Amino acid sequence: PYTYLPVAFFQNRFIPFTDAKISIATHALHYGTAAFGGLRGIIDPQNSQQVLLFRLDRHAARLSQSARFLHYDLPAEKIQASIVEFVRHNRPTKSFYIRPLVYTSDLGIAPRLHEVEKDCLIYGIELGDYLPADGVRCRISSWCRQEDRSLPLRGKISGAYITSSLAKTEAVASGFDEAILLTAQGKVSEATGMNIFIVRNGQLIAPDVCQDVLEGITRDSVLTIARDLGIPVAERPVDKSELYAAEEVFLSGTAAKITPVKQIESYELPSERPIANRLRSMLAAIVEDREPAYRNWVDRVPLT
Ligand code: PMP
Repeated sequence: PYTYLPVAFFQNRFIPFTDAKISIATHALHYGTAAFGGLRGIIDPQNSQQVLLFRLDRHAARLSQSARFLHYDLPAEKIQASIVEFVRHNRPTKSFYIRPLVYTSDLGIAPRLHEVEKDCLIYGIELGDYLPADGVRCRISSWCRQEDRSLPLRGKISGAYITSSLAKTEAVASGFDEAILLTAQGKVSEATGMNIFIVRNGQLIAPDVCQDVLEGITRDSVLTIARDLGIPVAERPVDKSELYAAEEVFLSGTAAKITPVKQIESYELPSERPIANRLRSMLAAIVEDREPAYRNWVDRVPLT
């Protein structure tokens, strides 16, 4: 049910999305040796001839770092420029999601990262706002989050998403919407494609970046906004039982923005969410370039 943007970036060229094809022997397909990014573009509500990109520099830097983990030298500046060009070529008229991927394009069969060809591609889909107004129901996954000593979780490494996929399907099959993964040490890590926050005694708490979480750009934005709003903030390990004791729990991510959690396992959470609501409306205003203090978080791409 996706509508793809008409132009893709593939093998260093802009070509029709439908012409961008890879071989069945592609190394990354077999070994998960790829890493991706994901960012939103919206049409500037103040100027329909302009696209707004949220924290493009951070997204490009994270993808460049992910590429480095794969022994692929791809400077953030090059990624950033390719994404801007990609937007110009597509001239979107609706909100969209950009998916850049770095991957081993080699056709060889040895799992390794040296002496294998790599490529970077970009495509996009139309993606409007979706926010389950009353929140999502989460289960604690029986699968645990991988550990940093097994793979570099600070990169959005494609192969790591097998765990997210197992956890998501397990959650949905047992009647929940989403899964929360614990670390191998039993601390709260994150959801399948979103970071997690809890509120206790008015304090906003996020699992710190050494809890095998992805260093989410929305996570970083939420923490910054909260500090700027004077909300007390902590980044520290979070116990499972704190999820049940929390006043608020919400998930953050580029696609899902801020999504409240209404139930975890058999525990219902309060329906009042003052902190999540405040952060959500502030984030929405920043993304739409309506907050002068955060103008440097928004890149403006003119389409004319
Ligand atoms: N965790 C995981 C595992 C993710 O895939 C994502 C989505 N990129 C996030 C967290 C949220 O990151 P961001 O806010 O940068 O989209």
